[in-house]
Amino acid sequence: MIHVVGHKNPDTDTICSALAVAELLKQRKLDAKAYRQGELNPETKFVLEKFSIDTPKIIEDAENKDVFLVDHSDKTQSVDNLDKANLIGIVDHHKLGDITTSMPLEFWAMPVGCSCTVIKAMYDFYKVNISKNIAGIMLCAILSDTVLFKSPTTTDLDKKTAEELAKIANVDDMTKLAMDMFNKKSDIEGKSMTELIFRDYKDFLMNEKKIGVGQLEVIDISVFDKIKDDLFEELQKIKDEGRNSVLLLLTDIMKEGSQLLCVSDNPQIIEKAFNVKLENNKAWLNGVMSRKKQVIPNLEKAFL
Ligand code: MG
Ligand code: MG
Ligand code: MG
Repeated sequence: MIHVVGHKNPDTDTICSALAVAELLKQRKLDAKAYRQGELNPETKFVLEKFSIDTPKIIEDAENKDVFLVDHSDKTQSVDNLDKANLIGIVDHHKLGDITTSMPLEFWAMPVGCSCTVIKAMYDFYKVNISKNIAGIMLCAILSDTVLFKSPTTTDLDKKTAEELAKIANVDDMTKLAMDMFNKKSDIEGKSMTELIFRDYKDFLMNEKKIGVGQLEVIDISVFDKIKDDLFEELQKIKDEGRNSVLLLLTDIMKEGSQLLCVSDNPQIIEKAFNVKLENNKAWLNGVMSRKKQVIPNLEKAFL
């Protein structure tokens, strides 16, 4: 059986992509099932409930399994023992990671705003119809990853694909659906600092240094005012587990920018990366909404 799975600390795109690819493989008469690596965030929970789709089961180890990866190609974000798995395929929209294979594989990657945009192209390529509910969750993934088309990662293909999926899913107000989703992820009441930071968090290896970057996208970042000291305390703990730097982006969906919180052995490199001055380990990054396009490339260059 093919285990379809996205990155650790799953976001809506990673979960919905795993479900959509598993469904496509089944339509192609292959035995496949979607899995997840970690708990669903409140936005993803809302999306699966809205379109009546069951939550995928957890996978912890890839050894001796057939695996199809979605929404990542970095080992640090993938399932343990991936090098002992049989990698069947990858669908992604990030930078190419460090995963390699010894066998030929199906590999779909495009520089678009969402993995589900690429997956829609796969459905079209294989001439497979998308069910109403799968179209619904794929649409939500695009709205989530592109932040309702505001992220600079957004392409015309993402917009066109979202329109097509909305028709299949019978969604006539995409903006309302997106705002319902964003409200879910803006509710941080009662959540622990660990849960918040790891909700959308990725580790990267840059010049042999481990760099962690988390991101919280909310409608108004003033919700974090009361808990900023607690967030810093937790960031420091995560850094002390063997990382050079840990960054947290508090992204304001309405202001279309992010406040950067950062703890680092090399703060001057972080300042160079974003051309800012850190004040109390914080800086406002105007217009920065995308980790993959506006944060990781700058960091990789600065840490070279
Ligand atoms: Mg993702
Ligand atoms: Mg994605
Ligand atoms: Mg994201």
